[in-house]
Amino acid sequence: METHIEKLATLFARFPGIGERQAKRFVYFLLRQDNGYIDALAREIAELRSKVSQCTECFVFFEAVNGQALCSVCSKRDLDQGVMMVVEKDADYEVIKRTRVFGGRVFVLGGLAPAILKDVDAYIRIRELRSAVERRTGKGGLQEIILALSLTTLGIQTDEYIRRVFADLVDAGTLRITSLGRGLSTGTEIEYSDKETIVHALSGRK
Ligand SMILES: [Zn+2]
Repeated sequence: METHIEKLATLFARFPGIGERQAKRFVYFLLRQDNGYIDALAREIAELRSKVSQCTECFVFFEAVNGQALCSVCSKRDLDQGVMMVVEKDADYEVIKRTRVFGGRVFVLGGLAPAILKDVDAYIRIRELRSAVERRTGKGGLQEIILALSLTTLGIQTDEYIRRVFADLVDAGTLRITSLGRGLSTGTEIEYSDKETIVHALSGRK
């Protein structure tokens, strides 16, 4: 039978970037902490689901104070309606938000998809993105989506996939698609980029 140490380590090993040995180190770290720390950690984890909501427009996680469905960006009155930036995950969204140079909508894809996958839609929010774009294009509405994906193999494949998904709207002249990645150097991940890199990539997007 699995011990408690093993069980907890197995759970930690599922965290992104955490291997089995690191997971074990987390468990032994916890065993050395006082009750106050353990209680606070257990409480925060238990309350995470009930206290944090997901925006129904952009899918970012946020804390709804009055049970509102929209995050602070999507509910902004002066939001630039002409442009929407597509990011892989919440951490990337945070980086974009911190630069304060982008005033439009953001959309969180929820992952990247390898080109070989048969059902890409099951892994990332392509259907939701398509419907969000369709709702907004038209007179005075959305004109451009900026693909702000990391310049890694997966990021590039996902970029190409999204371009294919929207090829009809682009051909019809309804929508323009640009990529932030083309202004970045190979291997760049959005999550670890500084403000200058993002600003530079944004102005050089193609
Ligand atoms: Zn939102």
